[in-house]
Amino acid sequence: MQEQPGVSPEHDPMSIPYPSQGETVTQPESVRRDTAAPAAPAPAAGAGHADAALIAKVKAEIDADAARLTGIFKDIHEHPELGFMETRTADIVARELKALGFEVTTGIGKTGVVGILRNGDDPTVMYRADMDANAVEEATGLPYASKVRGHRGDGKEVPVGHMCGHDAHVTWMLGMAKALVAAKADWHGTLILVGQPAEELGAGAKAMVDDGLYERYGVPVPDYLYGLHTAPLPTGTLISGSGARMAGTDLIDVTFHGIGGHGSSPQTTKDPIIMAALAIVEYQMIISRAIDPQEAAVLTVGSVQAGNDNNVIPSEALVKINLRWFKPAVREQLVKGIENINRSIASAYGLPDHLLPTMTMKGSVPPLINDASLVERINVPLKRELGEQRVLTDFPALMGSEDCQMLMGDKQSIKLAYLQVGTAPPKIFAQARAEGKFIPFSNHNPDYQVDLDAIPLGAKLAAVGVLEMLASPTL
Ligand SMILES: [Zn+2]
Ligand SMILES: [Zn+2]
Repeated sequence: MQEQPGVSPEHDPMSIPYPSQGETVTQPESVRRDTAAPAAPAPAAGAGHADAALIAKVKAEIDADAARLTGIFKDIHEHPELGFMETRTADIVARELKALGFEVTTGIGKTGVVGILRNGDDPTVMYRADMDANAVEEATGLPYASKVRGHRGDGKEVPVGHMCGHDAHVTWMLGMAKALVAAKADWHGTLILVGQPAEELGAGAKAMVDDGLYERYGVPVPDYLYGLHTAPLPTGTLISGSGARMAGTDLIDVTFHGIGGHGSSPQTTKDPIIMAALAIVEYQMIISRAIDPQEAAVLTVGSVQAGNDNNVIPSEALVKINLRWFKPAVREQLVKGIENINRSIASAYGLPDHLLPTMTMKGSVPPLINDASLVERINVPLKRELGEQRVLTDFPALMGSEDCQMLMGDKQSIKLAYLQVGTAPPKIFAQARAEGKFIPFSNHNPDYQVDLDAIPLGAKLAAVGVLEMLASPTL
């Protein structure tokens, strides 16, 4: 999912000096391919922080592996797979992790993969990469662009493209895995790497947990869960804030039942299209009149389906609703409001009880909430990596949603850090800014693209965060 950063330009918190058009793009230390560049300053002597020499070693491993990782990325990009169909991608993850000595289990939650590396005492860190692509026709024009077409459950042919960067997420995980294995004498703990299916459907993480991730498959309950997502900010920037970072969401189908008939004789019918139309307008009153204006809430009707002919009143109308919210009490208001409006409209039309509107709750994902102490801790080495001002700690929360946090299941002790990694090519970003655009493209756009320089960089940010967590046994 991961909709675009939802902030308006006037609230642009990124006070980073972006290169203007024609200006040389200076990338941060870690992005430069020149490994002879001066080393990053030594870390502050913070108690228990990840060892700077170890971080440097792991980064050098990733730099040496950059060409191979770019090849893996392009290969996955060219072969995208829709949610719960990621068999080829899962095979790549399984093969790579097995070769590195991980205990690998496949087929968790249909196409999920888990690799475990037990390397001494606590702590246990879980890193998650989602694997699925979008039903979007790629229009980047890149030489490795997807030309794939696939089928959804309904058999309909759709284009398939990695327009949310999950191909990068998988590659980052594999790059980090290799580097951490090479340096495993220098750290201890249990590393769990998760190739998760179907994030775009909001269902993959739950499917893995429901399939018995922690029970049937015996995956250790981690102390920390870490996830990274691409974002259309310039390579070398990172959003790493505490607290609620992404909204909760619900998918709700409402069916208005009526009595169909001839279009010329409405008096003999109960017209479900009229009821749906009224409801769609009234739903927005929940947002504008019922919910505290200081609370964030979105109600979008994304699909209305009813009837076939000009002169036939159908017997049903289907309305597909999407909610976004941060507080459970707001969600409650939204759901109750929808129920009340449905009932009142049906009642005004004199529908019998057996024809009252029905609601199907198709799925709910809670907001994503980052643990403040964990984020504060990992931001220390991440800021050292990218530069203080390129780690955006007060970037507003997004109304987009994620299901990474669902990997926790009911294990409330797990601390989560989920960060957004800038992966837009800096020149393209600067060009967009020069044209007055806030960002050059959004996740899911046909022209969404991940900078190849962000491939080794993302692997490093994954490794740096994991090493910091592995060095944090008592947080
Ligand atoms: Zn997405
Ligand atoms: Zn995504």
